[in-house]
Amino acid sequence: MNDFQSDKRRVAVIGGGISGLSAAHRIHELDPTIDLRLFESAPRLGGSLQTERRDGFLLEWGADNFITQLPWGLDLCRRIGFEDQLIPTDSAHRQAFVVSRGRLRKIPEGFVIMAPSRIWPVITTPILSPVGKLRMAWEYFVPAYAEDEDESLASFVIRRFGRETYDRLVQPLVGGIYTGDPERLSVQTTMPRFVEMERNHGSLIRAVWSQVGRKRQQQAKGSSGARYSMFVAPRDGMDSLVAAVAARLPQDAIRVGSPVLSLAPRPEGGWTIRVGGERPETIEVDGVVLAVKALAASRLLAEIEPTAAELLAEIPHASCSIVSLGYRREQIAHRMDGFGFVVPLVENRKILSGSFSSVKYPGRAPEGKVLVRAFVGGACQAELADLPDDQLIALAQEEFGQLLGIKGEPLLVNVARQPHAMPQYYVGHKQRIQQLDELLSQVPGLYFAGNAYEGVGIPQCIHSGETAAQRLVDQLKESLAARAVGS
Ligand SMILES: Cc1cc2nc3c(=O)[nH]c(=O)nc-3n(C[C@H](O)[C@H](O)[C@H](O)COP(=O)(O)OP(=O)(O)OC[C@H]3O[C@@H](n4cnc5c(N)ncnc54)[C@H](O)[C@@H]3O)c2cc1C
Repeated sequence: MNDFQSDKRRVAVIGGGISGLSAAHRIHELDPTIDLRLFESAPRLGGSLQTERRDGFLLEWGADNFITQLPWGLDLCRRIGFEDQLIPTDSAHRQAFVVSRGRLRKIPEGFVIMAPSRIWPVITTPILSPVGKLRMAWEYFVPAYAEDEDESLASFVIRRFGRETYDRLVQPLVGGIYTGDPERLSVQTTMPRFVEMERNHGSLIRAVWSQVGRKRQQQAKGSSGARYSMFVAPRDGMDSLVAAVAARLPQDAIRVGSPVLSLAPRPEGGWTIRVGGERPETIEVDGVVLAVKALAASRLLAEIEPTAAELLAEIPHASCSIVSLGYRREQIAHRMDGFGFVVPLVENRKILSGSFSSVKYPGRAPEGKVLVRAFVGGACQAELADLPDDQLIALAQEEFGQLLGIKGEPLLVNVARQPHAMPQYYVGHKQRIQQLDELLSQVPGLYFAGNAYEGVGIPQCIHSGETAAQRLVDQLKESLAARAVGS
């Protein structure tokens, strides 16, 4: 059965994560006359974004905030009237720690993933040895890479800053973002900004310093406009953002519990979609945005474009589990004067990072209590993500216990699993995506969005959804214009 209105152009978005929701929202924003359906296989929207409230704690199952330096997240929030729901990180504690020889040490102030913008904090940090610091400073004189070829993040950082800076600072910071292995991650796709800095300035330190100089000049000139902290979060949790986007879609557009089982091109143009679940249906649409994980996209594409399907299936994904623990504040000896910590692999511990959720944002724990989250697994410790719940909880308790000096049992525990949720942009990813683009540009009316292509963060996912939506609406307009000329 097909309950689309017969005189309208019809579009389906497959996948109700933030990428699919952004695509659906943009389609509706660009052309409200389009008859829109969003199919989500799970019984709820949000995909890897999920929030749970329990005993006064607010638990995020995945992402807990997003970056403001990329415009797309904030921009969407503004357009849907959600901007006033965004809260900044607590400015009193804007710092993070790294585990160094079994202890939490402050990451030197001004150290931005790989390049220092301030000298004194680097000179005084106990994280690096004097030789390591000198080698880091030597980056200023290291000649720029002459090749245009991609290389691994590890190779890039070690070449520029030396092994110690890589092992002790960059690997855990990058590992924390991508839950990935920097020995295999592509520098061009994960940190393109740093490649550009090297190319344009010859050195990352030089590039960072010239930016700092420019910022100071702007501040001196009194630049105006809203200022955001580097990260923001929805006051009431990530699922409130999901709900706010969904609320802007036309009534009856959203179908949860509706897995798309197959997708087939129609000879006359457009697509036939077979939907399962409680309301099985077969529908015909003029265009599709496929906003599911790469492996799910690969399955749907297997008979339509087998080479593209293979390329999609080859994108590796890492799993991780998040253990949330709630404590009374007095159970924890550490000052908790930061947002959390990252763990270098050389420390041989069992967690990738720890987040002090209730220090980062207000409203995450009841008065007098704290919420911490441990990230377990990722590409480098894959086997740990799959441990049973009781072992994951024990492991997180032990690690937090040692690092933060915690006494007694937690008041609250929760295990959130994110299987195969983090695509890994290994060396060669850019070429793979170019090849995919070329193959898929031959398939009219089908557009892709999601975190497996050009960025894993929420703003990039929103951008991918909105770009797919724009392309689809443009194509519908073009085909309508062509039909009008032909008739
Ligand atoms: C643990 C973790 C922490 C993170 N932290 C942050 C962070 O702090 N900040 C940040 O910016 N980013 C973070 N990210 C990344 C970011 O959250 C994700 O990249 C993003 O949410 C992915 O959204 P998506 O819509 O592309 O995919 P998904 O959320 O995976 O959504 C895809 C949807 O498609 C559905 N689907 C699949 N197959 C079908 C089908 N056949 N038919 C219908 N529906 C289907 C799925 O059920 C799912 O709901 C984190 C990710 C993880 C895993």
